[in-house]
Amino acid sequence: MVNFQKLYAIKEELNQANVQLVAVTKTRSLEEILSLYESGHRIFGENRVQEMLDKQAQLPEDIQWHQIGHLQSNKVKYIAPFVSLIHSVDSYKLLKVIDQQAQKFERTIPCLLQVHIAQEAHKYGFSLDELQELITQDQFAALTNVDIQGLMGMATFTDDQAQLQKEFQNLAMSFDQLKHHFGPSFKTRSMGMSGDYKLAVQEGSTMVRIGSLLFT
Ligand SMILES: *Cc1c(COP(=O)(O)O)cnc(C)c1O
Repeated sequence: MVNFQKLYAIKEELNQANVQLVAVTKTRSLEEILSLYESGHRIFGENRVQEMLDKQAQLPEDIQWHQIGHLQSNKVKYIAPFVSLIHSVDSYKLLKVIDQQAQKFERTIPCLLQVHIAQEAHKYGFSLDELQELITQDQFAALTNVDIQGLMGMATFTDDQAQLQKEFQNLAMSFDQLKHHFGPSFKTRSMGMSGDYKLAVQEGSTMVRIGSLLFT
């Protein structure tokens, strides 16, 4: 069930800081999503393609679906017609497939580049060096139907506030280093989840992805 008291408190807090909320609804039922929808919320994040497809087919058309989890190239075609932001672009190969699929559906797909900020090696994402190299390549400049709107990062799963702070600062610093290369649509820093969103906002997040806190 949706915890509306918590939802409204978080929304109020985020509004004050001008931060967007992506309600992460992986494993949540259609009823739970509809109940958030009826309260006026429109931005939902899912991490599995099949689950997003099933839900998208059964829920209102004006929902903005965000892909937040690792995305395999061969699955891009399923979400390409409707996805409103892909947070988890972690390779040039994936970006190229997104561009091709966007062309096929005659649209532009907004994307964030995922930066590896965590200590855990298994987490996905580019290093700042890799991004700096990527954005100067001709093959990157040749992409026509993706709109790179910013960066996304997932911090280490830890309670160590100093460590988390360092990782969020790292993402904000990477953003500053890269932004001159892009136009004004490069404005999103997607960082912060249920356990660490306050710190992420303090360190300059513009978009938080919150799941478990919104439900009881
Ligand atoms: C699940 C998930 C979240 C939300 O996590 P909570 O701790 O439930 O808020 C955020 N980002 C990604 C990429 C996720 O997979």
